[in-house]
Amino acid sequence: MPYKYYGGVHPDYAKTAAKTPVRPIAPPKQVVIPMVQHIGAPDHPTVKVGDTVTVGQVIGTNDAPVSAPIHATVSGTVVAVEPRRHMLGDMVMSVVIDNDFKDTPCEDMKPLTGDELEDPEAIIRRIREAGVVGMGGAMFPTAFKIQGAAGKVDTLIINGAECEPYLCGDHRTMLEHPEELLKGIELVRIAHGLDKCYYGIEKNKQDAIDLLTGLDPAKYGVEIVPEAVKYPQGAEKMQVKANTNREVKPGGLPSGVGANVVSTYTAYTVYRACYEGVPSIERVVTVAGDCVSEAQNLLVRFGTPLEHIFAEAGADMDRVERICMGGPMMGICVADPSAGSVKGASGLLLFSRDMNRESETPTCIRCGNCVAHCPMKLEPIYMYMYVNQGDIRKMEEYHVMDCFECGSCSYGCPGRLSLTHTFKVGQAMITAHRAEERAKAEAAKINAAAAAKAQDGGKEARA
Ligand code: SF4
Ligand code: SF4
Repeated sequence: MPYKYYGGVHPDYAKTAAKTPVRPIAPPKQVVIPMVQHIGAPDHPTVKVGDTVTVGQVIGTNDAPVSAPIHATVSGTVVAVEPRRHMLGDMVMSVVIDNDFKDTPCEDMKPLTGDELEDPEAIIRRIREAGVVGMGGAMFPTAFKIQGAAGKVDTLIINGAECEPYLCGDHRTMLEHPEELLKGIELVRIAHGLDKCYYGIEKNKQDAIDLLTGLDPAKYGVEIVPEAVKYPQGAEKMQVKANTNREVKPGGLPSGVGANVVSTYTAYTVYRACYEGVPSIERVVTVAGDCVSEAQNLLVRFGTPLEHIFAEAGADMDRVERICMGGPMMGICVADPSAGSVKGASGLLLFSRDMNRESETPTCIRCGNCVAHCPMKLEPIYMYMYVNQGDIRKMEEYHVMDCFECGSCSYGCPGRLSLTHTFKVGQAMITAHRAEERAKAEAAKINAAAAAKAQDGGKEARA
């Protein structure tokens, strides 16, 4: 029986692509693969202009523990290694490959066999070399996450909530690859050294719950947990609460209360890496929004220019005002539609001006909805006021840093205040203030040490 958490909202889920099978899109003529596709140190390109590459060949690496290698997603010729615009705005080092449309596979990575599939170290090593990162959007390197949990975590939760409106990629993966998914979850469980794990799935995917339950999940050490349909059920903190009744402290991680959370598509990617020897080169992306006549689930190779994906989806680009990567609640605005897609892009939503809820005259009517909806039990109404006043002390007192930007308060605000955006700004202000304070303290320490030295020097000279 899943546990309940405070707050949350019930948006229009608009999961119109739930019944639409995943369709691989036509391969693009060229891919632009950014060397930043994970949280942590960016990769260094390992290929140069003129090199011939194969599908799955490593093209970028970094030895830093918090990193993940990046692989070629088409076969062909490297035509540029240079900074290109990332879909979220920054210029980042990228490898550009002209597709030869031969799909020549790289033979470097073989499937794991026999005992390797039971060996946590072999599985973690494969997860790292396959470049697997958190595919729910966080893009945290999965091997590092598992290694960091060693000895601290007694509970593994696979996140199948997919609570963001529109997104259906996880749901379709459950329906189209149920056995592979259970095997992938089993591998993640073994890598954690645990006998059992929970698979939390929102009850609006009852067909998937029935299908997976019918495959004897206990055989894989998996217990399916049907969860309430409530946003943000898929947030890690809420998954931990729903499955264990433990509360992750504000600013803390699930591992702080003995739990690790891994997303559905990450587990499926682990299956492919271990059983098929295929690194992380593609994913399902739900393309939806009012500028797409029919929402779709497309299998997209990383580095595919977004414009190519939109053309494949038949989007009406003349009407597009805003492109969102991820879901509409926590997603991030796409800065450049010519950029290549990345591992964390579970959805691409195309919205026209008609969907813009912003108001030119946002007004708080003191209804208290934002307080009632905040799963972190914060008081957004006051946080908003203090951020706008630039009052750092009050922002800290009202725990602005504890906001994890779920968007529930903004969604339920009848006054149309840009609450979540304001809290992002507030967090940046607090971070900058803290850095400034640290720098001042450091400078004061240096000055004090210099003054003491000068005084000692003076004493010595007088002696
Ligand atoms: S939900 Fe909006 S209008 Fe209501 S109290 Fe909060 S900020 Fe004000
Ligand atoms: S965006 Fe932040 S303040 Fe608003 S409901 Fe979510 S956690 Fe609470």
